[in-house]
Amino acid sequence: MKRDYTLNEDQEQIRQLARDFAAGELRPRAVEWDRNAEFHREVMPLMAELGFFGMLLPEEYDGLNLWMLAYLVALEQIAWGDASVAITMSVHNSLPTQMILKYGSEEQKRRWLPPMARGEALGAFALSEAGSGSDAASLKARAVRDGDGWVLSGEKLWVTNGGEAEVVLVMARTDEPGERRGPRGIGAFIVPTDTPGYVVGKKEEKTGLRSSETVSVAFNEMRLGSEALLGEPDKGFIYALSSLEGGRLGVGAQALGIAQAALEHAIDYAGVRKQFGKPIKDFQGLAFKLADMSTRVEASRGLLYRAARAWDAGRGDMRLSSMTKLYASETAVWVTSQAINIFGGYGFMRDYPVEKLFRDAKVTEIYEGTSEIQRLVIVRTLYQEKASESL
Ligand SMILES: Cc1cc2nc3c(=O)[nH]c(=O)nc-3n(C[C@H](O)[C@H](O)[C@H](O)COP(=O)(O)OP(=O)(O)OC[C@H]3O[C@@H](n4cnc5c(N)ncnc54)[C@H](O)[C@@H]3O)c2cc1C
Repeated sequence: MKRDYTLNEDQEQIRQLARDFAAGELRPRAVEWDRNAEFHREVMPLMAELGFFGMLLPEEYDGLNLWMLAYLVALEQIAWGDASVAITMSVHNSLPTQMILKYGSEEQKRRWLPPMARGEALGAFALSEAGSGSDAASLKARAVRDGDGWVLSGEKLWVTNGGEAEVVLVMARTDEPGERRGPRGIGAFIVPTDTPGYVVGKKEEKTGLRSSETVSVAFNEMRLGSEALLGEPDKGFIYALSSLEGGRLGVGAQALGIAQAALEHAIDYAGVRKQFGKPIKDFQGLAFKLADMSTRVEASRGLLYRAARAWDAGRGDMRLSSMTKLYASETAVWVTSQAINIFGGYGFMRDYPVEKLFRDAKVTEIYEGTSEIQRLVIVRTLYQEKASESL
């Protein structure tokens, strides 16, 4: 594979490591996992050994302490191999581990981060509910004080890794029913999944990402100790939103890996498929399609790297994360759709790789905030900037 000259030697090595793993361990299995909607459990130990579950955690918690850019470069390659594995890894690295690292007490960090970094404890993130998706702050799950601890009740929907995880970060109301405080009345709780009352419900039958696990989870009067509360009892929603800034970059990297895979398949196929006596790549209408696809993929990569470098310099923000997720996910959907066209009828068949990429790409426009929500975030920051300029 060609070297990416915008990366330094270390980043290049991590990229190569992830690419080799994706090519050797993920690609050969991804189609079968997808057909059987089977969780990719068999590769989890090897991923743990390679450090893929502690990429952003400091060495003192057994992590690799990588820059955001190196992590995203690796994640792109994993998604190139199988987007389902990428979301398992992205949720774990970007959401629960980062929330505990940023807002946890030293005791909480010591208890959870080393096993999470070593891949012994998989993490999940439970914010969405049946009635609250984009409007996540209207969630209804409740945590009621009980002596020193809490009693948690309610139900979460579509929890990635929810049945496989050892620990879930759960957002629940801590305000009183008569005094609802919206986003300021929500706590974040570190919930070990072996706590009595943690009940895994329906496993979703999905269009794409079929080897990732998406389940509903109920909390039946679950008793938690005081050590379960992360930070302050009314700041959980703020903690969750701030972790989504990194999470959205992860989804951007995942979308980019899917788009890159579709582009490569399309280039190869257009070079060998002949119609009217010549390779279809020699028809200008189709060649222009390939040019546009590769341009959008490169533009997504440029935006992702820029956002990652800003993050690494301590200057990342939600706008850049939202722009990256928005652009990369819409690129992935467009590029995978174009790839199907280039494959013609074969593109629509399960025997060829691009239909799976198209199915996998779609959800990147939806989770961790839909494209509409990303646009709302972006436009809001434009007016905030305008207001601060006129002060
Ligand atoms: C495979 C998968 C995995 C997931 N994993 C997780 C997970 O691990 N943890 C978790 O907490 N959640 C998870 N989710 C949930 C995901 O984050 C939500 O689906 C997403 O936030 C959208 O919420 P919703 O589905 O309720 O759609 P809704 O919020 O009901 O939106 C429906 C439509 O209305 C639009 N809309 C809503 N509000 C506005 C507005 N103000 N302006 C313009 N348009 C608007 C939306 O963009 C969308 O087009 C997952 C979802 C899927 C599909």
